Amino acid sequence: MSECAIVGINWGDEGKGRMVDLLTENYDVVVRFQGGGNAGHTVVNEKGKFALHLLPSGIFRSGVVNVLGNGVAVDPENLWKEIQEVMSKGVEITTDNFKISDRASLLLPWHRDMDEFEEMRLADKKYGSTKQGIAPFYSDKYQKKTILAGELFYPEELKTHLADLMEWKNLTLTKVYGAKPYTMEMLEEWLETYCKKIMPYICDTGKFLKEAKADGKNILFETQLGSLRDLDYGIYPYTTSSNTTAAYAPIGSGFANAKIDDVVGVVKAYSTCVGEGPFVCEMFGEEAEKLRRAGFEYGAKTGRPRRVGPIDIVATRYGVEVQAATAIALTKLDVLSYMDKIPVCTHYMLNGEQTDSFPFPFALKNAEPVIEFFDGWKCDISGVRRWEDLPKAAQEYVTYIEKQIGCPIKYVSVGPERDNIVIR
Ligand code: GDP
Repeated sequence: MSECAIVGINWGDEGKGRMVDLLTENYDVVVRFQGGGNAGHTVVNEKGKFALHLLPSGIFRSGVVNVLGNGVAVDPENLWKEIQEVMSKGVEITTDNFKISDRASLLLPWHRDMDEFEEMRLADKKYGSTKQGIAPFYSDKYQKKTILAGELFYPEELKTHLADLMEWKNLTLTKVYGAKPYTMEMLEEWLETYCKKIMPYICDTGKFLKEAKADGKNILFETQLGSLRDLDYGIYPYTTSSNTTAAYAPIGSGFANAKIDDVVGVVKAYSTCVGEGPFVCEMFGEEAEKLRRAGFEYGAKTGRPRRVGPIDIVATRYGVEVQAATAIALTKLDVLSYMDKIPVCTHYMLNGEQTDSFPFPFALKNAEPVIEFFDGWKCDISGVRRWEDLPKAAQEYVTYIEKQIGCPIKYVSVGPERDNIVIR
């Protein structure tokens, strides 16, 4: 029996979905423990190409049970649409292979409105939210102003609870944002159209996980986004509204006594960042455009072009540390194959001094990247499966990163498909 978390080390979009899809071969249960449908994992396998937002990436493996833990923002509308879309491509989603925690809070219809209205109010000071309602959802969760998935089984009490919440939320919607109020009819329609559909999957997943552990099952914890988006350890306020670090897995999964043995940190071979906020190693102009195109760096959820840059050793080392990673998967190494010289951000300059420490979020805007160049390999490496077959320049690039971040790079991903992998 083993418990392993797969986490992002950088700003998200590192290729976690691809790694979960690969590693689920050795696991019986995959649990999402935080976040909502505001980011996406892209998984390519024999069934096709999928952009998952809420469903755990183990959903494609037969025999794997997928769980949305209590730390997840469960949006019944988006979840139901995603279930239907994935099922339409021939993937089975049943109450046996998919379970939603009865203790997960539900993202209510007004959370998306609140997100949209607040970004509009902020105008050029906006955070770059994906407008999926995640920040309003978590704010309300911590104010105890949302409902638990399990409440759907108590329809009478639920209606009273929803009416109270609606009365409270309508004050903000109408008086602060000048929007239309919600009515009970609207909420009843939402209950009927979406909540009812996901009800069969809702159960006591804490009990399920406890039993799975007792039966010696291997459990994999999956997170969304990366270290630098963690609410407490990331580039606040340009973070997400939950904890993306492995330390949160026992709490957000509903498996409070989980002892995570392995933390696989996913690092991209270069940097990308979606939305606003400091991004010290950012590249601009033609070089940036070339890298963006080579890596197809456009948001899985929004289609927004991602900001790109060289790998940032300072941020990656920090990301490894806060995740307490025990092994690294370096992804998208193949994307760099076109480069003659590969840039690497080795240090930051801050207030005239060179530093290797990741600065306080507000100091990041004053940090300048120190860039060094490594030799490129200039050949297609996507067919390589053994470490010794990688070109010497690629090996040197990988071992340099490994040494700098202080964590073994166990997997080198050289393409998006399941078998495009070098395991060391
Ligand atoms: P996630 O949210 O961390 O799962 O990352 P995304 O799904 O947003 O981005 C990863 C993208 O890179 C997906 O389109 C993957 O199919 C693709 N990808 C993952 N690993 C590799 C790789 O090693 N090489 C290439 N070329 N693409 C990869």
